[in-house]
Amino acid sequence: MTNGQMVKGGEFLLCDAIGGSLFVPEDFSLEQRQIAATTETFVKNEILPDLERMEEQDFALVVTKLRHCAELGMFLVDIPEAYGGLELDKVTSMLVAEKIGPTGSFAITSSGQTGIGTLPLVYYGTTKQKQKYLGKLTTGEWIAAYCLTEPDCGSDPLSARTTARLSEDGASYSLNGVKQFITNAAFADLFTVFAKIDGQHFSAFLVERSMDGLSIGNEEKKMGLKGTSTAQVVLENVRVPIENLLGEVGKGHKIAFNVLNVGRLKLSATVIGAAKGAFAEAAGYAVERKQFGQPLSSFGAIREKLADMVASLFAAESLLYRVAGLLDARIAILDRAGDDYYERYQKAIEEYAGECAIAKVFCSETLSFVADEALQIHGGYGYIKDYPVERYYRDARVNRIFEGTNEINRLLIPTLFFRRADSGALDLWEQVKSVQSDPCDESCDDTCGSPLPGPEFSLLANQKKLFLLHLGALGERRSEQELLLTLGDMAIAIYALESSLLRANQVMTSSNIGERKKELLRAVAKVSAFETAAHFHSAASRCAAYGVQGAELVALQKTIARLGTYSVVGLLEAKQQLADAATESGAYLF
Ligand SMILES: Cc1cc2nc3c(=O)[nH]c(=O)nc-3n(C[C@H](O)[C@H](O)[C@H](O)COP(=O)(O)OP(=O)(O)OC[C@H]3O[C@@H](n4cnc5c(N)ncnc54)[C@H](O)[C@@H]3O)c2cc1C
Repeated sequence: MTNGQMVKGGEFLLCDAIGGSLFVPEDFSLEQRQIAATTETFVKNEILPDLERMEEQDFALVVTKLRHCAELGMFLVDIPEAYGGLELDKVTSMLVAEKIGPTGSFAITSSGQTGIGTLPLVYYGTTKQKQKYLGKLTTGEWIAAYCLTEPDCGSDPLSARTTARLSEDGASYSLNGVKQFITNAAFADLFTVFAKIDGQHFSAFLVERSMDGLSIGNEEKKMGLKGTSTAQVVLENVRVPIENLLGEVGKGHKIAFNVLNVGRLKLSATVIGAAKGAFAEAAGYAVERKQFGQPLSSFGAIREKLADMVASLFAAESLLYRVAGLLDARIAILDRAGDDYYERYQKAIEEYAGECAIAKVFCSETLSFVADEALQIHGGYGYIKDYPVERYYRDARVNRIFEGTNEINRLLIPTLFFRRADSGALDLWEQVKSVQSDPCDESCDDTCGSPLPGPEFSLLANQKKLFLLHLGALGERRSEQELLLTLGDMAIAIYALESSLLRANQVMTSSNIGERKKELLRAVAKVSAFETAAHFHSAASRCAAYGVQGAELVALQKTIARLGTYSVVGLLEAKQQLADAATESGAYLF
């Protein structure tokens, strides 16, 4: 893999794939920055001041705010131009999601509308269906909801019990069943409902609120996201005209799973926005609050937390926009002509399904970490509702549960890469053999021309070797869940480390960057490498312990220790630099 070539899905795991240019937030165009600024101003002036009322479930207000979003054009971002949309790239779409992220429940309400609520129609709807519904959704006249989960099937949606039966005259389907935890249920007008035709063929339907037999259950009393509506959608003999079948009979799984790839990426953007919000609360509080006659920000214990939070955020942000940039690059080369455009579009996105799952897990866990530390920095006040950090903490938790739980996503990551390897799209098995035959080959350690110090790049190269060595050592046992989880964790750590290093490196080589920013980039790369290395080491050690025995285990442990050792000189100074800069600016630094 040479610099500048597009990295294929999963290819980052291969030793020789180090390099390649990637999209980094420093590359946002003027237009993207303007869209971000407009969204940020809207959130600051229109949403945050009314958030408390929305949290008390004033859904009329929530709908009014959604319509304001629509007036601003925020619902047009992912809509095709042919239907009056802006059809902006994924990077811009993520940026908008990130800027709404700090609003917590409102962000989820709005992504319920623009993401899972509308995208199935965009990707799989017929022209007639799009003409009928898209305009209503983009103007905010109608609100959308996505109904996949059921009381007895969450992670396993294909076991759905909701049924659809074709009427004798063939004009309509009759839907029966219960959908669980449906976002926007209280005020949605259009529901994408998954049901099995004749109890067998998993399919999707566009169901209008006004259709007889559809009713909404009581609001769930949730731990967080209190301003979103979450309720059951009950279907009792709901007559849905056949023209409201979405996509093909028996192909509902394609709709459900493909929409989730972009959904996972959007969730990653939303949680990064929330984590930046929580971080700003923590940095501000650390400067203001004094104990022992000094601000909290002067204590090493607090400063280290701030530095670690910045480093995880940097890795999460680098990873997210890297994946968004990859999707954009892949979509850009598609021929737009032809009725099968969205089919090819979905295939293009599917190539990076593993990276989308990595982003979902890493970014949602970054938010959990940042929100938790932000609350800790507030001490007892963090536990009190008057402080915004309390809401950030509560709202964070569910992100590890929806859009596929983090366990399901962790299991998916290696599974998806194996599938690509088995289909010949990824040269994984050949690389396993090559590393097994020569584990000491240092060919991956090339850091020529890198403005970043070499040790972190060597570490990255060695982590890839270790990942391949473990794969080889596990043989067929690699599909056992406990082992898949460790492989998922290793892949996540590699991707986070590589995204941080490549971004720092790329930005440092640009001509218009000052010495101060270079120093901070060096520092953040060092700290984020140390943190991800710790996660990698833990996963590799568990993988070895679970997967191999006796002398082979001892040998693998030694290899983990040897290849995982790198120079960490300057780690404390790097953390201190980040903490200084964070307390000075009172916000995330990059
Ligand atoms: C606030 C909120 C909003 C939501 N909004 C929507 C929405 O708009 N539309 C919608 O359709 N759904 C929605 N959901 C549902 C959500 O997607 C599901 O809760 C989620 O998919 C998990 O399903 P479950 O809750 O049934 O958990 P389960 O599937 O029962 O999982 C329970 C635990 O077991 C683990 N587990 C399950 N299966 C396996 C396996 N094979 N291997 C290993 N571990 C496994 C899970 O990781 C989890 O830890 C929402 C949920 C919440 C809480």
